[in-house]
Amino acid sequence: MQSFQPFTLSEHNTLGVPASCPQYFEPANLEEFKLAYAACQGNFYLLGEGSNTLFVDTDTPAIIRPRFLGKSTRDLGDYVLLTVSCGENWHQLVTYCVANGYYGIENLALIPGSVGAAPVQNIGAYGVELSDVVHAVSWFDFAQQKVIELEHSDCQFSYRESIFKNTLQSKGVITQVTFKLSKTFTAKLSYNGLNFEQDNVTAADVMQRVIEIRESKLPDPSKLPNAGSFFKNPIVEQAQYQALIAKYPHMPSYKMNDNTYKLAAGWLIEKAGLKGFRLDGVGVHEKQALVLINYDGMAGNKIVELATIVMNKVDDSFNILLEPEVRFVNHLGLTSMSECQ
Ligand SMILES: Cc1cc2nc3c(=O)[nH]c(=O)nc-3n(C[C@H](O)[C@H](O)[C@H](O)COP(=O)(O)OP(=O)(O)OC[C@H]3O[C@@H](n4cnc5c(N)ncnc54)[C@H](O)[C@@H]3O)c2cc1C
Repeated sequence: MQSFQPFTLSEHNTLGVPASCPQYFEPANLEEFKLAYAACQGNFYLLGEGSNTLFVDTDTPAIIRPRFLGKSTRDLGDYVLLTVSCGENWHQLVTYCVANGYYGIENLALIPGSVGAAPVQNIGAYGVELSDVVHAVSWFDFAQQKVIELEHSDCQFSYRESIFKNTLQSKGVITQVTFKLSKTFTAKLSYNGLNFEQDNVTAADVMQRVIEIRESKLPDPSKLPNAGSFFKNPIVEQAQYQALIAKYPHMPSYKMNDNTYKLAAGWLIEKAGLKGFRLDGVGVHEKQALVLINYDGMAGNKIVELATIVMNKVDDSFNILLEPEVRFVNHLGLTSMSECQ
């Protein structure tokens, strides 16, 4: 197993935050994972590709980055069950599926990160969520020291949420994800930019268009370090929605059910006057206000300071408290934003 002590993490988080850990392990399988777990006495942060992680302090606990690789398929006639190890790269999986005629995740192209992290926040984009195609998740439970199979319904998926961020947080590791994918392509074109004719479009066309849209809208973390959407889109109740839409008739919104509406956090930040706002070496992106950029390789606490300004301004302007989508990690491990302020 690859292991280092100490280890610098600046190139292992897409926000480019300088941080280092006392011990770093890259187990290639469950047996190696158990050795790493024992070596750091259960006190570690589980890292994937670091595209949804903010290291708040310059020190972190030990880091375990599972590098389990491999895929296998089971044919079910019209469908295939594709089981993928947690260390595989998400976008490479999307291109593999499109090339092999396994359909359902093409709209999720170019989302950075590992397969193991994808169920944690139920990744989603362009009208598709991971939960649409998850069949089961293999979970190594630390207390029981055994792998448990979680069915789709056990995972408690909702918008950017799952059981892995809640009841099961820090209690185990996702070792594999099994997807149920169709062998027949049905395009999901509900997102505005995907204006194809349903009959003539291929999965490769949809994937390519998604890539083009993403590249035109989102800053590339290798050039402008960022973690994608820093905040979740807030969900408000009918009364608050009615008051806002009366004042801002062009406000983007999505009706969730009879009583709740999802609003666009980026629009709220922009309307609060913070698009392009800079604070020392960090700032709100000039084109997409939902993305915070670490322009000058600043430490994580500077990004917390910026995020706090954004949250306060949106709260003052709209009476809406934004919730970070990014996971916060301090010198002790996973924490919440409020504990860092
Ligand atoms: C430019 C950009 C665009 C993005 N666009 C989107 C988007 O469109 N939609 C979207 O949903 N997200 C998006 N994201 C966020 C990010 O890509 C996802 O959250 C992704 O799933 C994170 O994967 P990761 O491996 O980098 O996770 P990390 O940041 O390494 O970890 C994230 C969380 O998962 C946990 N974790 C990691 N591996 C495992 C495992 N094997 N078992 C259990 N827990 C684990 C970690 O402990 C942590 O809590 C974007 C990010 C960037 C930088």
